[in-house]
Amino acid sequence: MAVRKILRAGDPLLRKKSAPIPQTEIRSKEIKKLIRDMFDTMDDADGLGLAAPQIGVLKQLVVVGFDRSERYPDAPGMQRSIVINPEIETLEDPTEGSWEGCLSVPGMRGYVERPRKIRMKWFDENEDFHDEVIEGYDAVVYQHECDHLDGVLYVDRLKDPRLFGFNEELEGASAERASV
Ligand code: ZN
Repeated sequence: MAVRKILRAGDPLLRKKSAPIPQTEIRSKEIKKLIRDMFDTMDDADGLGLAAPQIGVLKQLVVVGFDRSERYPDAPGMQRSIVINPEIETLEDPTEGSWEGCLSVPGMRGYVERPRKIRMKWFDENEDFHDEVIEGYDAVVYQHECDHLDGVLYVDRLKDPRLFGFNEELEGASAERASV
């Protein structure tokens, strides 16, 4: 088990674009180890998702999924999956928002509106190609994580800067589901 340090907002690496992983490297030992470290790091931090740049690796790799989160007890479980070189196409205008958090912006959350229906293309860890329509809360989580690959944080997308603050201060405020 290798829990890696999670970079926090302000670190310039979080603002860089990540490079696609060459097809010939997807099944390499290096990538397998990176995936294991990312799950270990995400689980240790009780997160719902983690993008490679959050541990300082500028590669297009995201892991998501959890059975139950202590940080977000109301969030439904999400199947564990590994997303490599994703491409996202929006299928719906954002009409709904939710409170999001991020392991790179610890202790805080903010209200963000995103499309609830997307088409995502990606490779998994076995080099299998996926092309699927994803809806609802899962679509929010994937967009949040894939934003990290473009150097974008959810705070860039706040609906209103006033709808942003520390978790404790926002307790009692509309605490919907949050993503990481
Ligand atoms: Zn995040």
